Amino acid sequence: KAVTTDMQTLTEEIQKFAKNKKIEIESLQVREEYRREFLGNISHELKTPLFTIQSYLETLQDGAIDDLKVRDRYIERAAQSVDRLIYIVNDLDMITKLESGDLHLNIVTFDIVETIRHAFDFLDYKAKKRNISLIFDLNYNKPIYVVGDKERIGQVITNLIDNSIKYGKEKGTTEVSIEDLVNNKLIIRVTDNGLGIQKENVSRLFERFYRIDKSGARTVGGSGLGLSIVKHIVEAHEEHIYVESSFGYGSEFSFTLEKALVEPLDN
Ligand code: ADP
Repeated sequence: KAVTTDMQTLTEEIQKFAKNKKIEIESLQVREEYRREFLGNISHELKTPLFTIQSYLETLQDGAIDDLKVRDRYIERAAQSVDRLIYIVNDLDMITKLESGDLHLNIVTFDIVETIRHAFDFLDYKAKKRNISLIFDLNYNKPIYVVGDKERIGQVITNLIDNSIKYGKEKGTTEVSIEDLVNNKLIIRVTDNGLGIQKENVSRLFERFYRIDKSGARTVGGSGLGLSIVKHIVEAHEEHIYVESSFGYGSEFSFTLEKALVEPLDN
């Protein structure tokens, strides 16, 4: 009887071990698949601007350099592709840091109104080029203090406004608002009346490299990493990000932040 029980225990142990190994192998396979897909995406994203630069340079070498007008246009386009490469590499750098947990938040108390105004100043030129009005309620004439990483939250806001300009419609609007929630939380909303996003795409927006072709994303420029960086930063603050969109009418991206209970000392 004792031998049978031992045999039974042993068999159960072996089965348990095999099951755990199987789970381990499956998770390694998923990670490997993810890694492969990631590398494939990076090389694709890098290749496009590189080929563009190559083709403009070759055309210049083949004689286009002698036509001043054509020359300037081609140099301008090649330079735009270099900008795109830099943009992608910077985003990659950031996402690697975020995913490996190397990015440490520098939590301080800061004025979110000032951060939003800075983002508006920074993107003013880009918005004007598309005739988009940036709207921020003038009633926000006093500081509103929040707790978080000032620079990273600035990056989140800039990124969301930047997207709303890129995917907004010409002569449209981008509005930023701040609303109080319960439990000392705020919600920051960035609303546009642009292209909007189809329902089936909404759940994938925050994936790395995901870009919706129908939104003209291929021609607009970007790495497809912006929203995934935004989500990482918001979640690193243990806050939430939401998106609501109506295809053809516009989108609203919003995220929560913690209000500061006391004002910073130097104010
Ligand atoms: P990128 O802008 O570099 O393509 P993001 O990660 O910021 O990458 O955005 C992913 C995709 O989500 C974009 O390519 C675009 O298709 C879509 N998107 C983002 N913001 C908006 C918006 N405000 N309105 C419509 N589509 C948007």
